[in-house]
Amino acid sequence: MTDSADHRPAILGGTPVRPAGPATWPPHNPSIQSVLQKLIESGDWGRYHGPHCPDLAQRLAAYQGVEHAWLCSSGTAAVELALRGLGVGQGDEVIMAGYDFKANFQNILCLQATPVLIDLNPTTWQLDVDGIEAALSSRTRAIIASHLHGGLVDMPRLRQVADRHQLGLVEDACQNPGATIGGRRVGAWGDVGVLSFGGSKLLSAGRGGALLTSRADIIERIKRYVLRGNDAYPLSEMQAAVLRPQLEELDQQNIRRHAFVRQLATNLKDVSGLALLPILDDSTQPAYYKVGFRYSASAIDGLPKDLFAEALRAEGIAFDPGFRSLHLIHATRRFRAADILTQATLADTQMLTLHHPVLLEGDAAITEITTAIEKVQQHAAEIRGRQ
Ligand SMILES: *Cc1c(COP(=O)(O)O)cnc(C)c1O
Repeated sequence: MTDSADHRPAILGGTPVRPAGPATWPPHNPSIQSVLQKLIESGDWGRYHGPHCPDLAQRLAAYQGVEHAWLCSSGTAAVELALRGLGVGQGDEVIMAGYDFKANFQNILCLQATPVLIDLNPTTWQLDVDGIEAALSSRTRAIIASHLHGGLVDMPRLRQVADRHQLGLVEDACQNPGATIGGRRVGAWGDVGVLSFGGSKLLSAGRGGALLTSRADIIERIKRYVLRGNDAYPLSEMQAAVLRPQLEELDQQNIRRHAFVRQLATNLKDVSGLALLPILDDSTQPAYYKVGFRYSASAIDGLPKDLFAEALRAEGIAFDPGFRSLHLIHATRRFRAADILTQATLADTQMLTLHHPVLLEGDAAITEITTAIEKVQQHAAEIRGRQ
């Protein structure tokens, strides 16, 4: 039909809503430029040891309200070290959600322990605290709880369940550093909290991670594992130095991201087929590495989620399909499923995410996202029938 190029989806040859494409990350930051300049002048960039790692560790611990922050080479390494710090080993079981970051599952296997998968809460689409007790066995040693796609696990209740059964709690806060529940930072609710400083994350050093804990015994076990006359999982001085200014800006940026997401949710409230994941309650301050939505293809002319995300990316908006659920991509002998994982199975086909860099932009970006979604929705049948 006669559809002007502006109204046709980019995936069908029209003009993209954002011709320059998605926002990039990390953004230009004069404070980081000046930190790097000083590192070059002082030569600190090339040192094994210097002031920047101890300084960052001390600031992170204070920011999080924990006794110790241990810096390491990635969030994935931090989850492994957290499990080791809790003494997880061969034959143990570790409870986690059926929809989670794949490396968390692999880390459990790497310790010769067994992942026990539980379902998501049907409302929040985060690990369902109500599913823990039915999943317990005499071998249960720990729980991994990840806050995903802007949502929050109910940590006050999970903390009680973990205490009642004396289970170690690993809190994966890689996707929402700085978020709070009841005034307490995420990452500080677990026996061990985990942060990532990967290249796309809110606090980024290209690579890197940290463990947060107030338990000295956990730090002792981690030290015994990583310190081999040398640190086997180190963060560098240069990485620590570029993280400090970002930590200082984190709270203010999280407030901006949250305001953006609230406005976007208002704009999208009449768009059927896309529902923002809810945050826990009013006591929370969320943080967004990804913004999670439930995508319902049936409301969008049967357009599959992956194709919807691809069409939005063609418009210059960074939507992507989220994770694959773990029970659907691993052999059943690798894990134990505590129940039939109804919600985790749904999340596999319905979780849609928006990548965070755009959230620091203004109203114009909110309009662009809304316009792009409407455009794709109006042409959904045609996009589905393409090829
Ligand atoms: C990014 C991420 C990690 C760790 O990633 P690294 O790239 O290893 O730092 C862990 N868990 C979740 C949920 C993540 O999103």
